Amino acid sequence: MNEGKGRFDIMELIKKVLFTDFVKGLVITFGYNVSMDSVITVKYPDEEKWIPYRRFRGLHTLNRTADGRELCVACELCSKACPTRCITVIPMEDNTGRGISDRVAKVWKVDLVRCLFCGYCEDACPTRAVRLGREYELACFDRNCAVKNREELLRPQPVPEEMSGGVVAKARLRTTPDGIEVVADLSETRKRRV
Ligand code: SF4
Ligand code: SF4
Repeated sequence: MNEGKGRFDIMELIKKVLFTDFVKGLVITFGYNVSMDSVITVKYPDEEKWIPYRRFRGLHTLNRTADGRELCVACELCSKACPTRCITVIPMEDNTGRGISDRVAKVWKVDLVRCLFCGYCEDACPTRAVRLGREYELACFDRNCAVKNREELLRPQPVPEEMSGGVVAKARLRTTPDGIEVVADLSETRKRRV
C-alpha cells in the first residue's frame, strides 16, 4: 500500500520537475496555431454570417402546405400556451381556400419584446403552423418593428428549415427597396469551431 503511494508521489514529482502539464498546455495552444481551422473569430456581420443549428429558436415563422395553403387554423392554442401572452390571434371564417380549414387567422402577431423564445407556442400548435426559425437579427430602433404580423411571418425565412446549421456563411450585399442589406450566401458555407 505504502509502496504504491510512494511510486505515485515519485510520478507526481517527476511531472512537476519536467513541467509536463505546462508542456501539454503548450502543445494544445501550438496545435491551434498551426491548425487550418485556427481562426475561430467570425467576421460578423459584414464578411461572415453564422448559420445556427436547426434546433435554434429564433424568429417565428408561419408555414404553408406544399400547395401554398396556410397551416394556421386560428385555434389560439399557441397564444394560450405562451407564458408571456405575447401572441395575439384573431380568427375568422374563410371559404376561399386560403387555409387548410374554413377557419383562418385574420390577425396573428407576436411581440418579440416580450417573447422568451421558449418554443411553447410551436409545441402547442396542432398543425405545425408556427415554428421558431433561425432568423436572429431582430434588433431595431422602433418598438413597433418588434411586433411581427402574419404577413411578415408567412414570408419564407432566408435559411430553409431543412438546411443543416452550425456553419459560417460568406456575407454578400443585396440591394432592396429599403437600401442595402448584408445577407448570408448559403451557397458558400463552411464548418467552423465556434
Ligand atoms: S416562444 Fe414562448 S414566449 Fe415566445 S411566443 Fe412562443 S410561447 Fe410565447
Ligand atoms: S399557429 Fe397553430 S396553435 Fe397558433 S393559432 Fe395557428 S394553428 Fe393554432
